[in-house]
Amino acid sequence: MMRAVVIARYGAELEARGCAMPRPGPGEALVRVRASGLCATDVHLLSGRQPLGTLPRIVGHELAGEVIALGDGVTGWRPGDRVTAAIDIGCGNCRHCLAGQTQRCRALRRIGFERDGGHADYVAVPAANLVALPAEISYEAAAILPDAVACMYHSMIHRGMVALGQRIVILGIGGLGVHGVQIARSAGAEVLATSRRSERRALAERYGAVAIDPAAQPLAAAVATFTQGEGVDVVVDNIGTRESVRQGLAVLRPGGKFLVVGYLDETFEIPSMPLFKTEQEIIGCRGSTKQDLIDVVHLTRTERITPVIGAYYPLEKIHEAVARLQSGDLVGRIVLTRDA
Ligand SMILES: [Zn+2]
Ligand SMILES: [Zn+2]
Repeated sequence: MMRAVVIARYGAELEARGCAMPRPGPGEALVRVRASGLCATDVHLLSGRQPLGTLPRIVGHELAGEVIALGDGVTGWRPGDRVTAAIDIGCGNCRHCLAGQTQRCRALRRIGFERDGGHADYVAVPAANLVALPAEISYEAAAILPDAVACMYHSMIHRGMVALGQRIVILGIGGLGVHGVQIARSAGAEVLATSRRSERRALAERYGAVAIDPAAQPLAAAVATFTQGEGVDVVVDNIGTRESVRQGLAVLRPGGKFLVVGYLDETFEIPSMPLFKTEQEIIGCRGSTKQDLIDVVHLTRTERITPVIGAYYPLEKIHEAVARLQSGDLVGRIVLTRDA
């Protein structure tokens, strides 16, 4: 038996319980998890809006640990290797998978969603998903790379084409936004980031952003100053409410890109005439590819990105961790630890 955090039924709470040890199937590796990143999505999954197949399901889509055993046919990995894992498992044969855009695969399966994930002592994952972890990166820091960091990297660099000399806005400085600031600065862009919480603004400023409180200072006025009236090249919306979409689109320059990363509201309202007149682009952003994860491992090793962890909780204290996540007083991401 091992410990794991599961969704036993929709509408309930995440719960820590004993589960059977996973066994690595053909092509899979058994990983002893040393740390896993807690994501708000882990909690949102309780709603049942994203069907997870059979329950109970072990959640957790961000993990780091060491390879313990290998299933049949696996080459290139050995027990003891330090690893993290890409989240997506595509069919491997469709046009999207063949193009390396696994996140668009219609038959997509994900670690911690449609198959058991990393909030456990052990997890079996396809060896093809493993990414080697250099010794300089701790398991805890690595545990937030697959989603909190790689998702921002995928969104901003590959979807938003954020580049040298651009000016961008990041709405929300939570677990994603704080890494978005660092990625934009590494890419050579200037960043204006918004949060109502002063600790989060202070953190964004430490990483080189201009930070404002949208409740105290209208975004439009701040962006007008920030860009000398031009509007920004890219808006990264980590919130995804009607209000964030309305405010974000209003500060975009003609031809600018609006990145939909958050999706709190079910629908958004998009004014049609400004879109027509300005050729602005509204771009959906989903997760990250394995190459994105490889890239952010490299950027972390070379210290161009620092994973920001706000709190640590042992795996079995999942209720406290979720309460802290929902309290909103967190700066950075939560990592669930394992006893050594
Ligand atoms: Zn997530
Ligand atoms: Zn596919």
